[in-house]
Amino acid sequence: MSNPSILILPGDGIGPEVMVEVRRVIDWFGANRGLNFDVTEDLVGGAAYDAHGTPLTDETMAKAMEVDAVLLGAVGGPKYDDLDFSVKPERGLLRLRKEMDLYSNLRPAQCFDALAGFSSLKSEIVSGLDIMIIRELTSGIYFGEPRGIIEDNQGGRVGVNTQRYTTDEIRRVARSAFELARKRSNKVCSMEKANVMESGILWREEVQWVHDNEYPDVELSHMYADAGAMQLVRWPKQFDVIVTDNLFGDILSDCAAMLTGSLGMLPSASIGAPSETGRPKALYEPVHGSAPDIAGQGKANPIACILSFAMALRYSFDEGDAASLLENAIEAVLAAGHRTPDLIGEEGRTPLTTIQMGDEILKSLDSLNQA
Ligand code: NAD
Repeated sequence: MSNPSILILPGDGIGPEVMVEVRRVIDWFGANRGLNFDVTEDLVGGAAYDAHGTPLTDETMAKAMEVDAVLLGAVGGPKYDDLDFSVKPERGLLRLRKEMDLYSNLRPAQCFDALAGFSSLKSEIVSGLDIMIIRELTSGIYFGEPRGIIEDNQGGRVGVNTQRYTTDEIRRVARSAFELARKRSNKVCSMEKANVMESGILWREEVQWVHDNEYPDVELSHMYADAGAMQLVRWPKQFDVIVTDNLFGDILSDCAAMLTGSLGMLPSASIGAPSETGRPKALYEPVHGSAPDIAGQGKANPIACILSFAMALRYSFDEGDAASLLENAIEAVLAAGHRTPDLIGEEGRTPLTTIQMGDEILKSLDSLNQA
C-alpha cells in the first residue's frame, strides 16, 4: 500500500519558516513511529504569483485535489497589496477552499496550562480549556446573492448581502459537528439568531433534525449567537463543540481563539466531503497570517503550524495517538519554559528562535517516545 500523501504549500512571509519545522516533525514520525507520508511541496500566494503570475496554478490545484491532505503556511504581504484583486495572494487560498469544497472549518480553542497567564481572562477561567468551534465555510452571507453596492432612487447608495442557507448545507456541517462530538465529550451547542432571522430558524430546525434522526446519543443545545459570545467569555468551559454559520463562526472563533493567548499557537482545519479513498478532502493551516513584520528574522512561533499537522494526523489519517503525542510534546516544551518572542510576557525569559523551538519539540518527542 502506498503512503498517505501530503501537499505542503508554505506560501509567503513566515509561512516557509514555520513549515521547515513542520517538515522536521513529519520526518520524525517517519523515522521513529513508522508513520511515513509522501510529501510534495509547491507554491501558493505571492510566491506562486512571483513564479507564475497567478496565486495558484491549475497544476497545483489539481495536486491539492489528489492528495490526502494539504498543509498551508500563510499567504500575503505588503509587496502584493497593490495587485489586482483577481491575482492577490488570498485568491489562491480561497480557490483551494472553494474547489475542494471545504465546508467545515474546525478551530480549536485549547489553553495550554503553561500559557494560561497569557489570556485576557483570569487563569482559572481558561486553564484546561479545550473547545472546538465548527464554522460553516462555503455558504451564508459571504457568498449569498444578491450582493453588491447599488444606487437607490434618492441618489444614495445601498450595500446588500444575503444570508442564505439550504437544508443540505446545514445538515452536512451539523453532521461534522456531531461526528466530532462523539470523539470528544459528546456535546454540541448550535448557535444562530433564530429570534430575528429566518435563516436562523431553518438552521435550528435542521440541526435538530440531524440530531433526532442520526445522532440522538449526542447532547444538543441551541443558543442565540450573541448570548453565545457572552457565555464564551463568561465561562467557556461549559462548551465542547460549537457549530455555527459562516458569519457568526468568523467572529466567535476569533473570540474563542483569543481566550488562549497568542496567534502563534492557533491551528485550524478545513474539511470537506469524503473522497473515493474514504478520507475527506482537507486543508490544515495556522490561523495566523504571513506576519511580514517578523518574517526572515527567526522570530516566528512554529507551534500553530505544527499543531495544524497534529490536526491532520487526527482528522485525515486517523492517528489520534500520534496527534496526542505531538500535542503532549508541545505542552512539555511550554511547561519547561521554552518560549518564542510572541510568548514572552513580563517574566524576562530569553526567547528561542523558530529553529530552536523546533529543536525543543523534537527533543520532547524523543523523550516522550522513550518513556
Ligand atoms: P498576521 O497574523 O500575519 O500578524 C498579526 C500579528 O501577529 C503580527 O504582529 C505578527 O508578527 C504576529 N504573528 C502572527 N503569527 C505569528 C507567529 N507564528 N509567531 C509570532 N508572531 C506571529 O496578520 P496581519 O499582520 O494582519 O497580516 C499580514 C499578512 O498576512 C497580510 O497580507 C494578510 O492579508 C495575510 N493574512 C493571511 C492569512 C492566511 O494566509 N490564512 C491570514 C491572515 C492574514
